[in-house]
Formats: sequence, C-alpha cells, structure tokens
Amino acid sequence: MAIAPHIKEIMNNKNASAIRKMFEEGNILKQKYGEENVFDFSIGNPDLDPPSQVIKTIKDIAEEEIKGCHGYMPNAGYIQTRQAIANKISLEQGISLDGNSIIMSVGAAAALNCVFKAILSPEDEIIVPAPFFAEYTHYTRNHGGVLFPVSTNKDFSLNIKNIENALSLKTAAVLINSPNNPTGKIYTEQEIKELIQVLENHGKKTGRKPYLICDEPYRDIVYENKTVSSIFPFYSESIIVSSFAKNLSLPGERLGYIAVNPQCKDHEELVAACIFTTRILGFVNAPAFFQRVIAKSWNSSVDFSSYEKRRNLLMKVLDEVGIDYAHPEGAFYLFCRVPPKKSVLEAQDTGWIGDDNEFCSHLKEYKILCAPGTGFGCSGWFRMSYCTSETTIQNCQKAFEEAIKIWQS
Ligand code: PLP
Repeated sequence: MAIAPHIKEIMNNKNASAIRKMFEEGNILKQKYGEENVFDFSIGNPDLDPPSQVIKTIKDIAEEEIKGCHGYMPNAGYIQTRQAIANKISLEQGISLDGNSIIMSVGAAAALNCVFKAILSPEDEIIVPAPFFAEYTHYTRNHGGVLFPVSTNKDFSLNIKNIENALSLKTAAVLINSPNNPTGKIYTEQEIKELIQVLENHGKKTGRKPYLICDEPYRDIVYENKTVSSIFPFYSESIIVSSFAKNLSLPGERLGYIAVNPQCKDHEELVAACIFTTRILGFVNAPAFFQRVIAKSWNSSVDFSSYEKRRNLLMKVLDEVGIDYAHPEGAFYLFCRVPPKKSVLEAQDTGWIGDDNEFCSHLKEYKILCAPGTGFGCSGWFRMSYCTSETTIQNCQKAFEEAIKIWQS
C-alpha cells in the first residue's frame, strides 16, 4: 500500500477536491475551446495586478545588496516586518500591539495550520459557522482535531444559539471568517459581541475559555461602505490570521501572518507555540523576500472598485436568468441557490434542497464552471468567484439561459 488509507479516502472524496478539480477541468476546456468560450467562476484566484507600489518595492528590493538576506532567520520572521504588521493590526483593531504579538506565516493557510497545531489536543473541536472555506476540514484534521460546523441563519448571519449549543469541554476555538468565503457575508459588531458573551459565559462555567480565531484575508474587500468589526478590544483570547493573497493580489507569494491578542492570558506561551509550530511543520519561516516587500508596502491597495463592478454585473446576470443568491457585502464570491426543477416549481415545495453537485456538472456541459456548495458545508447552493473578466461575466448569460432551460424542462 503506497499511501495512507485515510489520505486516499480524502483524495477520492469528490467534495474534498471539487474546487481544484473544477479549476483543472476549466484549464483543459480552455485549451480545447478557447479561453473566451469557457466561463470559469471556479476559483478565487485574484486576476487584478498587484498595486504599483508593490511592484516598485519588489524591483527596489531586488536591487538591494544586503549580506545574509537569503539566509535563515528567526522562525517568527523579520522583526521589522512583524512590527509593520503590528502597526497594521493596531489600526484595524483599535488597540496598540507590537511585533512580539505577530508571527509571519506562509499565507493564511499555514497560519491556520500553525495555530491549530499549537492549540489542538486529540479530538478537540473547532466550531465553525457554515458555510465555510472548504480547507478548514483538512486543516483541523491535520492536527488531530475535529471541525464542528454549525448552521447559520437564513441570511447567513451568525446563529448564536447554535454556537452556544455546540460548545463543550472539547471546544478549543470558534473560527469565523468575515468577509466570508463563500457567502461574502460580513458579521456585524453586534453579532461578534453576542458571540463573545457566549464564549465568556462558557469559559466561566467550564473553566475552558475557547479561543476566537478570525480568518480575514478579505478584510479590505468590502462594498457599500461596510466595515469589518474588530475582535481584539472585546475578547482577550482572540487570534487573527490573514495574508496578502487577496488584498494585494499576491496569492502565489505565500505571505501571511498570525496576530495574537496582547491581552491573551497565555500570550507569551501561545506566541512561542506558534513560532515552534511554524518550525516543526516544516515552514521554518515565511518567504524572506516578500517579508521585506511587505514591510514597505503593506498599506498599499488594489483597486477594489473593479470587483464591485463585476459583482454588480454578475448579480444583474443572475437576476435576469432567475438564480437566487445571497447579497455579498465583501470578498469576491456570490453564493447562489440551485434553481428548482420544474416538478419542484409545480409542487411549490419551498423546503426543497437542490443537488449542487448535479447542477454544477450540468453547468459544465455549457462550459460554466462553479463550485458546489456541499464542499463548503452547505448543500443546495453553489459558489461563483468573480475574479474573472467583465466579458466573461457578460457572455455567460446566454449559456446560463440555455443551461437553466434544460435543467427546468
Ligand atoms: N482563508 C480563506 C477564507 C480563504 O478563502 C483562503 C484562500 O482562498 C485562505 C484562508 C488561504 O489563503 P492563503 O492563500 O493566504 O493561504
């Protein structure tokens, strides 16, 4: 037997790899039929260029000759980069922190893995509101933990009662992602405060206060003047993980970070543990070159108005073809309901849940690529990423109309 059976099982699970598979199939279709004839909404891979300030900094730094700049460094990262991130978090969170609360990571993905490795004992649980970023299941399982999804309200806002009911002595953390992938939902300050109250009460009752982890790579991508609530001023046992993948269009450069609330009871130990897990998971340290780039250009920004324009265009297309969706407040995804079939429409069955895998396979026949909701813990829905050109969005309408006509015939 060449590979571990549980890895084989996960690899063969169609929900576990649906998005990547769709992305790869999309590339094959594009080669066969031409890029312009494939409507690829499968993956959240930012297609806007990084800000010009970032490009200039890359060039400047490449010219610098600093002895030892390609060598190993402390596992937490360069102190000047950690301090720059601390400045950024201080601004966002409204409390002051320094570089000693920051650990640089290989993207938000590694940040989550390092935190989970540091806090999870075998069978410990991470509670997450569904739908959620599909990889969370694997990241939790990587470190012996269990992901515990809880359903949200109809509008995808937090259902505090469901979270409260899910809390137990096994709960190591509640993990939230706002703006959310796949819904684009932003949790309000009121929701966050209610959630924190429940965590405080649970801590007092049981002696185990869960961490609140906020995964926020989409923090800056918001629409209609929405803002993302802070968590540090309200709850000491809180951790932020994020990256520059989405806001600076640098997903391939793999630069992210962990920020630990300076008020956290075991702050020093938790920071030390994340530094240690960065090392023992084999990341060793975050990419050196991009740490130097980010230290100088963390506060630049991609022009998000382009995403807003595409969001509006895609909403218009979906309105016209008759697909329901959750109104996105941030990020660059639209979470859509699988349209009912004719028999369901006739029966006026409002509780019906469509088969998202079947619908996404059907869309593929029309060269429309979307990600089934089941992988995000929410069947009956599918996700469309609008990191794609306005032309693709405009031209997909005809293909959608044909696909839905046959689906509902
Ligand atoms: N968290 C969420 C919610 C994401 O959507 C992603 C990537 O799409 C990640 C984490 C991982 O981000 P990174 O590429 O920085 O590792």
